[in-house]
Amino acid sequence: MAEYNRNLWAPWRMEYIRSLDEHAGGGCFLCRHAASPEQDGPNLVIWRGPRCLTMFNRFPYASGHLLVAPVAHRAQLDQLDAGTLAELIGQIRDAQALLREVCGCQGMNIGMNFGRCAGAGLPDHLHAHLVPRWEGDVNFMPVLSDTRVIPESIEALRGRMREAVARLGLPTVRG
Ligand SMILES: [Zn+2]
Repeated sequence: MAEYNRNLWAPWRMEYIRSLDEHAGGGCFLCRHAASPEQDGPNLVIWRGPRCLTMFNRFPYASGHLLVAPVAHRAQLDQLDAGTLAELIGQIRDAQALLREVCGCQGMNIGMNFGRCAGAGLPDHLHAHLVPRWEGDVNFMPVLSDTRVIPESIEALRGRMREAVARLGLPTVRG
């Protein structure tokens, strides 16, 4: 378990995302997603507020692995104003409720990495990871973690989550 947890926020995955992203146009993918609401579907954004947005990780550790980030390109929490901090934790709260509702997970890891030595693959734009967990998943997740979940399955899950958003009436969700 300890061995697996040490690997849960392994940087290689974000390095991979970053390499794909740079190949696709360069810059910070969180900034690009934040600036392109018309692309929320293809970008797998679930919801956005004025200051933060919540999206799927395209290269998840588990089905339902979400990212919550401020719209502003900031590296550290103390660079966020009070309103952004409140919206960030509010979206994390709502994402947790959404994952419990839709994924039926038994546990969850929520974490943030600051600096490359701490495992951050995109250290200049802070973001929180939410990773649903199930009893016994330690047995198969190290295998799955090397496998990209096919986009269709994430799309389907995104659809179910958006239905659940309406059902739950989550406070930070605005459409
Ligand atoms: Zn950025």
